Amino acid sequence: MRKVTFPHMGHSYIAFKMLMEDMGNEVILPPRPSKKTLDLGVKYAPEFACLPYKILLGTYLQTAEMGMDTIVTSGGAGPCRAGHYAHLHKAILHDLGYNVDLVCFEAPKKHPIDFYRKVQKLNSAKLSVLSIIEAIKRGWHKLKALDHMEKLSHKIRPRELKRGTTSKVYKMTQLWLDEARTHKEIEEAEAEGIKAFNNIPQDPNREVLKVGLVGEIYVLLEPASNLEIEETLGHMGVEVERSMFLTGWTRDNLGKGTEELISVTDAAKPYLPELIGGHGRDTIGHTVLYAKRKFDGVIQLAPFTCIPEIVARTILPKVSIIHDIPVLTFFLDEQTGKAGMVTRLEAFVDLLRRKKQNTKLNQAAALS
Ligand code: SF4
Repeated sequence: MRKVTFPHMGHSYIAFKMLMEDMGNEVILPPRPSKKTLDLGVKYAPEFACLPYKILLGTYLQTAEMGMDTIVTSGGAGPCRAGHYAHLHKAILHDLGYNVDLVCFEAPKKHPIDFYRKVQKLNSAKLSVLSIIEAIKRGWHKLKALDHMEKLSHKIRPRELKRGTTSKVYKMTQLWLDEARTHKEIEEAEAEGIKAFNNIPQDPNREVLKVGLVGEIYVLLEPASNLEIEETLGHMGVEVERSMFLTGWTRDNLGKGTEELISVTDAAKPYLPELIGGHGRDTIGHTVLYAKRKFDGVIQLAPFTCIPEIVARTILPKVSIIHDIPVLTFFLDEQTGKAGMVTRLEAFVDLLRRKKQNTKLNQAAALS
């Protein structure tokens, strides 16, 4: 039986764990990325590597010590080094004496046979093709339910009466969904979760700001890499809307394409007509769309040395002026501290509140 691991990316591990177990593998669940994880990654990674690379390397080193023998991850296409990272990780692990296998999935639309072969490689339970499809569907169902819970937490947290209640409920819903294995159980857990969120006492009169989060996928999805920015903003009375969820991204990567993404690409076109790798173009497109939807501000999250996000960063000031939307950028690496981030967020939120008040005053003056 294979002992598989995969990187943490928000709550997605709950769905991947079920899928890997259903296919007959033992899952070596990595600990949540911590300072120890990052220190390990920094120690053995090339200096120029970006933050996700270092966190993933640290994760693999931790799970290798726990007996993991197979890494399951995704590759990447286009002008970004992400496509090479999984193979570099494997080479470094081998150099350090960990003889691990790597199953690296590429976009199935472009590499269908390769995708099939890799799924079979992980099919330790020798399931039929139909059973594998059913297991993938259930994993997908669970992932969508998890995303739904997270979206609810973003909405309710800035309005909660007692600080911390939403985060507690959100953790509970993750436990319920972790235990659910059939479609029916997943539906029931999701319904219970909705009920629990709706029962959180809220202040309906609180003035809540709306901020869009854009940037590179890993630092957007993994709270440990962005120092729990969504929770911090929620506690400051800000409703966050994240531009990317794994279900949305995976749908696109599976070849179906999403309306959102097409419109995001179109929105970015006047500023950035080319695909520059990573999610740089999406960062621009989403910022334009958030401005059109009258959001109060946008925050860009970018790993330090991430070229696609650096390019996007140089274009964002122009987008910010033309569309009249304040934008704040965080470049994240192992030196980034939470206290510094909180200070910058407080200043940004203060600026957004003043801007909103001034707009209201100007509108009132124009009417009188
Ligand atoms: S998108 Fe940026 S952070 Fe992600 S792998 Fe590419 S260069 Fe690194």
